[in-house]
Amino acid sequence: MFSRLDHPPVSFDDYRPLLDPKLADELANTAKQMGRLRVLHLNSTATGGGVAEILQSMVPLGNSLGVETERIVINPDAAEFFQVTKKIHNMLQGAEGSLSPQELDIYMSCIQRVADDMQAKALSADVWFVHDPQLLPLARLLPKKDGEVWIWICHIDLTTPNKSVLDALMPLTQDYDQLIFSQTAYVPEDLGSKVPVLIAPPAIDPLTIKNTPMDLPQARKIVQAMGIDTERPLITQVSRFDLWKDPWGVIDAYRIARKSVPGLQLALLGLVQATDDPEALEVLKTVADHAEGDPDIHMYFDPKDMPVSVDEVVNAVQMASQVLMQKSTREGFGLTVTEGMWKGKPVIGGDAGGIRVQIDDGVSGFLVSSPEQCAQRLVELLQDQALSARIGQAAKESVRKQFLLPRLALDYLKTALFHATGQVSAVGGD
Ligand code: UDP
Repeated sequence: MFSRLDHPPVSFDDYRPLLDPKLADELANTAKQMGRLRVLHLNSTATGGGVAEILQSMVPLGNSLGVETERIVINPDAAEFFQVTKKIHNMLQGAEGSLSPQELDIYMSCIQRVADDMQAKALSADVWFVHDPQLLPLARLLPKKDGEVWIWICHIDLTTPNKSVLDALMPLTQDYDQLIFSQTAYVPEDLGSKVPVLIAPPAIDPLTIKNTPMDLPQARKIVQAMGIDTERPLITQVSRFDLWKDPWGVIDAYRIARKSVPGLQLALLGLVQATDDPEALEVLKTVADHAEGDPDIHMYFDPKDMPVSVDEVVNAVQMASQVLMQKSTREGFGLTVTEGMWKGKPVIGGDAGGIRVQIDDGVSGFLVSSPEQCAQRLVELLQDQALSARIGQAAKESVRKQFLLPRLALDYLKTALFHATGQVSAVGGD
């Protein structure tokens, strides 16, 4: 009921030139202080979505720093499990409704069976990083051994949660030694827990195929093969087809902007087929209806239709676009924002959740609250290359300072070290 995932090795030395030397030294030193402590990251899907994205890089980075790090994904045996956890996810982000006793039972009993299997197979680690609500009950259901450190990381936007589901789930946080949220605004007021909280926004891996900025001619070639005219301006949202990402609002903004920018094209790239996202197809259908057959709205869903790998497509589309959007109305963090900013592109983001943490409005991008505002910013950026270049440059520098993976690795390792040994890492110490 769970699998171990292998990720290709990386070398920490390749990250160093991109980092502030102080941060790089502190990370190397903290990793050294971890000694023989074994770290395990657990989440619910191998690919698709931001958490999977982070973990496939975090695990090899940990190992390259000399910290034994493993990754486990669960394979729940109940078909309804992901439907229930998707509902939980939506409700934690503010959707109405409540969990029925049957749904709660599917959720808890499924994780119980995962926990039993882990125990039977003697899965062990010194530090357990449990990601997102899907696995939250694990710390309660698995007997904790002496000295083990359990950390729950909540990656979602909890600004206006549905109280009934929050009340049902938050007591489960008591079984952890540390909680990590992406920003202060997400820490529930009535967490009802004495467990310490750390704020650690997510980050991107600058060395992956997706994030190493691609040459423009290569990017254009790929985008052309996807049916986009590279002679005309292109704007894009890279996102799962999801309610909270507001693909309909993106289309509305494009329609308004196109009146001032003739020939404008829109790409909606939602290629991830996350196994925990059964709603995506339904959303796609309504978005397609909303597009009303406009030949300049390009929607991509199936990775098999792509000329190259998904990561290369994301990179190419981000590079070949003049402006990127992430018009979410709720967003835990929004890795796509940082991915676009790292490529020196102006990003227009919904004024919500983690997007606010990434975009300094008017400096490193724009924040908007309606399709009309979004359209206005699109037109400004598309008509003023100097403005686009200035915003794009500020965006890249902001990511370099705050949102690259080694900073997140440092946040994780420091808190693990503190709980495991009582030590606080220090630059230059032993
Ligand atoms: N993504 C992708 N292909 C797509 C759309 C998205 O690989 O067609 C990736 C995207 O590049 C990002 C992740 O999926 O790395 C989405 O993370 P984000 O935090 O933006 O949103 P989430 O899906 O976790 O809500």
